[in-house]
Amino acid sequence: MKMDPARLEAAIRRVLAQLPGDADSTGDGVFASMDDAVHAAAKAYREYLTCSMADRRRYVAAIREVMLRPENLDHMSVAAVQQTGMGDVAHKYLKNKAAAELTPGVEDLITDAFSGDEGLTTVEYSAFGVIGAITPTTNPTETITCNSIGMLAAGNAVVFSPHPRARDLSVWQVRQINRALREAGAPDNLVVTVAEPSIDNTNAMIAHDDVRMIVATGGPGIVRTVLSSGKKAIGAGAGNPPVVVDETADIAKAAKCIVDGASFDNNLPCTSEKEIVAVDAIADLLKFNMVKSGAYELNADERARVEGVILNEKGRPQTDWIGKPASAILEAIGVEPPAGVRLLLCEAGADHPFVVHELMMPVIGLVRVPDVDAAIELAVELEHGNRHTAIMHSQNVSNLTRMGRMIQTTIFVKNGSSFNGIGIGGEGYCTFTIAGPTGEGLTRARDFARVRRCVLVGDLNVR
Ligand code: NAD
Repeated sequence: MKMDPARLEAAIRRVLAQLPGDADSTGDGVFASMDDAVHAAAKAYREYLTCSMADRRRYVAAIREVMLRPENLDHMSVAAVQQTGMGDVAHKYLKNKAAAELTPGVEDLITDAFSGDEGLTTVEYSAFGVIGAITPTTNPTETITCNSIGMLAAGNAVVFSPHPRARDLSVWQVRQINRALREAGAPDNLVVTVAEPSIDNTNAMIAHDDVRMIVATGGPGIVRTVLSSGKKAIGAGAGNPPVVVDETADIAKAAKCIVDGASFDNNLPCTSEKEIVAVDAIADLLKFNMVKSGAYELNADERARVEGVILNEKGRPQTDWIGKPASAILEAIGVEPPAGVRLLLCEAGADHPFVVHELMMPVIGLVRVPDVDAAIELAVELEHGNRHTAIMHSQNVSNLTRMGRMIQTTIFVKNGSSFNGIGIGGEGYCTFTIAGPTGEGLTRARDFARVRRCVLVGDLNVR
């Protein structure tokens, strides 16, 4: 029997993608030391300076293409859950696909121009050089895809310092990207990493003279570190997104949106709904509809047992439980999970750990308040000044406007799920590096660029 060549090739690719492989070896953008990795990227950047914009477009297209191969999407989604022990395979698939398809490329680098009697001046987005990018466990591959596209589109080379927990997968991904770039004719080593990611290697990267810009996607510790590096830095830090529901909202829709958003990738995204602030008049109806949409309401005794499992002695999230499914948490407290359960819900006070802390688990506290003014005030407090993400369900434009003004978050989703704010089912491009602390917002190619002015004196004004 003859096999169709396209199917044969797809089968071979699938097998190669699954090979546990070559995480320990070097080559294809993977280096034994951080110094070697940065030097290789610096050399690649110099070669990249001679490439045309059309070349850049081709290289970005090659990254998208390799990351969108079905066997690679499957591998990244399955292996991320296996290696980090967190998240949901189907949701990781969606996130990886969105990162590869919807991250802006070269087209994002718009040119500004001034012309007049004195001539023509252009203002262009130009490369920084070598960027050091630190990536989180929660979106390991999504961040590498999205940063590679944006940073290369802007003309840079990038050195990745992934979270050690996602090491094998990150190393695998950097190799895939390098091979695809080589096939597209790009300089070698535009995207590199080290075989053994570690905090020491991250610190060596931050301190390296050839690294001109640092981009950190992670928790408060690493954002603080890069902001005190003395270099141009982008900090994409933690959030604790509140979702407010007032009495004018479409409650059935709000309930479904909250369950969808708060259970997305088992609540790992920094943008996911982390606590609910609901006006008393609709709180019971909201909970009723959330249960219909796949939430399980914990009673007081069950809530206490869940606290015992997922919080440590300081009342902080227990690391081992981050990103675990709702069904596993129920099983751990001896409750048979109902079919299709996605989220655990409970009423809680405004100072309860399920409300105050970024749990990154499909467990959400609901705080009942008398009216929308109290809801907005509490939401602002619970967001902790992260200026990250907030969500509101309301049909009252004044209430929506007031919430947006008071909370000042980088992303404010109205009448939708949190993930609609990063281009998944909402208008706008995608990113997995949301820079609240440093203000770039949803980062894209132009944020990884320097602004340069080029002045031609006297000529080329043709008006
Ligand atoms: P993390 O802070 O533990 O790790 C992030 C990265 O920083 C990893 O590569 C880690 O190795 C490195 N790192 C951490 N501390 C370091 C230190 N002291 N020195 C050197 N390197 C260090 O975060 P995580 O658990 O991987 O990810 C979850 C956190 O990231 C959450 O707080 C989440 O909100 C945040 N996050 C933010 C965004 C965003 O776009 N704003 C996106 C994803 C995740």
